[in-house]
Amino acid sequence: MARSLKNPSFVGLTSTIPVEVIFAAGLTPVDLNNIFISADVPEQLVRGAESAGFSHNICAWIKGIYAVTLSHHVKTIVAVFGGDCSHTVALAEVLERRGVRVIPFHYPLDRDRKFLELQIDGLRRSLSATWDDVYQAKSKLDRIRGKLQELDRLTYREDVISGWENHFYLVSSSDFNSDPDVFEGNLDAFLDEARQREPRGEEIRLGYLGVPPILGELYETVENFGGRVVFNETQRQFSMPYRDDDIVNVYLKYTYPYDIGGRLEDIREAIRTRSLDGLIHYTQTFCFRQIYDIILRESLPLPILTLEGDRPGKIDGRTAFRLEAFIEMLKDKKSG
Ligand code: SF4
Repeated sequence: MARSLKNPSFVGLTSTIPVEVIFAAGLTPVDLNNIFISADVPEQLVRGAESAGFSHNICAWIKGIYAVTLSHHVKTIVAVFGGDCSHTVALAEVLERRGVRVIPFHYPLDRDRKFLELQIDGLRRSLSATWDDVYQAKSKLDRIRGKLQELDRLTYREDVISGWENHFYLVSSSDFNSDPDVFEGNLDAFLDEARQREPRGEEIRLGYLGVPPILGELYETVENFGGRVVFNETQRQFSMPYRDDDIVNVYLKYTYPYDIGGRLEDIREAIRTRSLDGLIHYTQTFCFRQIYDIILRESLPLPILTLEGDRPGKIDGRTAFRLEAFIEMLKDKKSG
């Protein structure tokens, strides 16, 4: 049965936002994407949204967000209208008609500081949080984010963490699994255990670019073929890896909602510092972000394998085969 999020203290998120504000208001953020993809049968949620009228050619994440909001009885959502996905605008209007309170949030495409500051302040006022409480929440989250950076370092520098483990903790930092204290306790225990491990031996080091995958077992498949993802681009961005005392600066440095320049800089740095051999660019069927594949290919110096996922489920045979061929090609290239 779907977990009930009926209690008005739960606030659904359609995408990563300054989550400090939600905690400062004494509320509980819930990343609707994570609830969708960790459901027992996420495909059923997609089908449910299609029965409600969402057409085949709408991205499955949008359908998943629609279905979990209603099936979990979420009363309030923060919907990111600017800097994320144009589908969210219409999705939010449908949800409003179903009785859901929608609080809009916009990232400015041109990274205008004043605009973003007003957006964060607007969110703060909508939820009746004080700036003091926002900064108190930020201080706690920054401590946990520091530990996520250590997890990332253990992934690419010490080689003791798998690509999926890295993905899992970083992707969860959009809402800290709704409970930062429990999240931090689990993370501490995980880091203690990981530090005792022997370094892993995969030959090929990969960067994963694009939105988080809807496909299961992608990371495991890569590792079975002798590769490992040591850089999860967007998931790492969710953990706000650039420390700054000013909350507006933190979300200006977050690369995902703005033009691709910031992303390219971030990826180039990862290529250098993490000794990457190749890149996987994951694209979601029916997503406008697929178009960025052109710019990534034109701008980055490493071989790129572009994968596409449509509906939730395990990776299919053809995708597994393409991954194997890509990793073999990188091995040949590396051995000269
Ligand atoms: S994958 Fe693309 S189309 Fe789907 S919700 Fe995300 S941004 Fe929108």
